Amino acid sequence: MQIVMIGSGYVGLVSGTCFAEFGHNVVCIDSNAAVIENLQAGIIPIFEPGLDTLVTRNISAGRLRFSTDTASAVAVANAVFIAVGTPSRRGDGHADLTHVYAAAREIAAAAPDDCVIVDKSTVPVGTAREVEAICREVAPHKQLSVASNPEFLREGSAIEDFMRPDRVICGVDDPKAESVLRAIYRPLSLRETPLVFTDRETAEVIKYAANAFLAIKISFINEISDLCEAVGANVQDVAKGIGLDKRIGSKFLHPGPGYGGSCFPKDTLALLQTARSNGVPLKIVTAATEVNNTRKGEMVERVIRLCGGSVAGKKIAVLGVTFKPNTDDMREAPSLMMIPAWQAAGAQISAFDPQGRGHADQYFSQVNWANDPYEAIVGADAAVLLTEWNELRALDLAKVKAQLKSPLFIDLRNVYPPEDMRSAGLQYHSIGRPYRD
Ligand code: NAD
Repeated sequence: MQIVMIGSGYVGLVSGTCFAEFGHNVVCIDSNAAVIENLQAGIIPIFEPGLDTLVTRNISAGRLRFSTDTASAVAVANAVFIAVGTPSRRGDGHADLTHVYAAAREIAAAAPDDCVIVDKSTVPVGTAREVEAICREVAPHKQLSVASNPEFLREGSAIEDFMRPDRVICGVDDPKAESVLRAIYRPLSLRETPLVFTDRETAEVIKYAANAFLAIKISFINEISDLCEAVGANVQDVAKGIGLDKRIGSKFLHPGPGYGGSCFPKDTLALLQTARSNGVPLKIVTAATEVNNTRKGEMVERVIRLCGGSVAGKKIAVLGVTFKPNTDDMREAPSLMMIPAWQAAGAQISAFDPQGRGHADQYFSQVNWANDPYEAIVGADAAVLLTEWNELRALDLAKVKAQLKSPLFIDLRNVYPPEDMRSAGLQYHSIGRPYRD
């Protein structure tokens, strides 16, 4: 199969490279020339574990290349995937489809007659139909098919997720699109990965429903953790106790500072807008987003309270700033709201993140970046663990105690056993796990 990936960001680059690994010939396109220049020079513009090795291997095998020339690549493609960004539209939270529609126009103009165009970006229900209308308008004589194939990979484990997905969802409206998608994903049949074929509208709804459900799980356990704190219960054990029930499942039951990232916040908003436009109130999703919106502010206040009611003139060491470990992605990271809030309250911030600094630097001012976690906490009045990177999971606690000015360690990811922290002489606070002496 000749595959073209339009958009070479977190999804496009990983999906394109993995398709090449399946054995297909892939061209990854991006309208940002710097992204393509870097890729052509062997520089991977994002941090995703294992991606550099996979890219190098597939370039060497002659199955993967990078270009800004959409028309030439598309002209010989069997399938063209649209993997461009669909951020929240300013003001109303609808998904901004400008890039998707621009890509559709370019593809339709250059594609061969029988090409299949596949929406991989997360797009509201009805978008595949709209992309098809654009194709008919731009190239009325061509028999272009449009399909929906939403992506479920997670940054940080994107390659594993793509190569061993729980399922692949394909929304199609004609047999040609179905046979091309079946051929593309055939390598997954060895693992008996469920390939779910449905109509395009259903595929589009599946993606948003999945993300909304996961967001609900996180907001749910965050609220339960508040209850645990009020009544002296342990949310970690509650999560385990309910998660062992197969109907509930143990994943996404980790309390924390609220979800962030490039998907959940924008996708829940976009789903709510779709629902509103269709007169369907999604009350549970609405509640989950409200809980999440207030969560970060509550965590800001909690840290201030634990610092004695004021952080003016104090130094807070923030450990981890990306929205989750193993990615350099800062989109909607809780730190984006929390660090400026502490600064506004008068705190000085030092920070350490294994990969996030490059992207984070553009969002923060007056943050003192450290090269390791111990450097970050030197002389700090509090250490706040915000992202559970492996590098932060096994800190030398004696060293932590020695470096801090006051031994306050606030762990918003419940990484450490409270007993260990207390025996190290640290005043330790985590989420939903009360002190028991
Ligand atoms: P991204 O911002 O990392 O990458 C998008 C890329 O598309 C950018 O490099 C941009 O320059 C390029 N682009 C925009 N318009 C273009 C055009 N007309 N032609 C060529 N290139 C163009 O975004 P992402 O995180 O990869 O997300 C892409 C889509 O996948 C979004 O809809 C997102 O919701 C969805 N998604 C993301 C994830 C994730 O974890 N990041 C997971 C599942 C689904």
